[in-house]
Amino acid sequence: MILKTAEEIEKMRESALIVSKTLGMLAGEIKPGITTLALDALAEEYIRDHGAIPGFLGLYDFPNTLCVSPNAQVVHGIPNDTPLEEGDILSVDCGALKNGFYGDHAYTFAVGHIAPETEKLLRITKESLYAGIEQFRAGNRVGDVAQAIQKYTEAEGYGVVRELVGHGLGTEMHEAPEMPNYGRRGQGKQFKEGLVVAIEPMINQGTRRIKQLKDGWTILTADGKPSAHFEHNVAIVNGAPQLLSTFDYVYEVLGIKSTEEDPYRKAIAS
Ligand code: MG
Ligand code: MG
Repeated sequence: MILKTAEEIEKMRESALIVSKTLGMLAGEIKPGITTLALDALAEEYIRDHGAIPGFLGLYDFPNTLCVSPNAQVVHGIPNDTPLEEGDILSVDCGALKNGFYGDHAYTFAVGHIAPETEKLLRITKESLYAGIEQFRAGNRVGDVAQAIQKYTEAEGYGVVRELVGHGLGTEMHEAPEMPNYGRRGQGKQFKEGLVVAIEPMINQGTRRIKQLKDGWTILTADGKPSAHFEHNVAIVNGAPQLLSTFDYVYEVLGIKSTEEDPYRKAIAS
């Protein structure tokens, strides 16, 4: 487990915020008719314009800047030229590398108006992310975050994807520890000051079972029902969780009022 200094955490905040702003820019573009390839091109240009490098492009040979996963796709979908349609959902996962550190987070967007039960899946998945973040404290363990997310989402009858997990984050996209979204309280590695992780529930409306397309990347639900994915980058500062990423830029574009991030913001020096 690699712990970061205060200076390194500030660099990581910069990388995370480039991703946050990229997702905010995309929020204004995601609508019926646009293709995920077009979104990918916009994101790559935006990240490079902000002095960073796309974090996923070429990583493990991934071919694009964004992972875009519509509807029953869970994660790792590859951008293509199929236009989005009214009623779709689209999980967008984005990475950026700047000053040697990665940012990596994700948001699931509604394309126009979506079914109420799909809206609920998005809301519960996002709420479960914050339930997990609340447990990311010095002295707590991987299982505390994992169990919080599992309990919150399984209470709604949703399936928690097990094969894919969150992770430590730093000069590598994937560092120790692994951060699963299912587990038991008090189990697993213990968190320490300066740890930075990506917490990322991947939650299915139906079965937790998944399958993979022959492209070697795309993960989708086994039952064809929708799946949602929200991800934040979080550091332990003064023993408590502090967000390096934010959905503020997305909310600004979508006109959403939210206080969910307030307990985890960096204190502003007076
Ligand atoms: Mg990600
Ligand atoms: Mg991640």
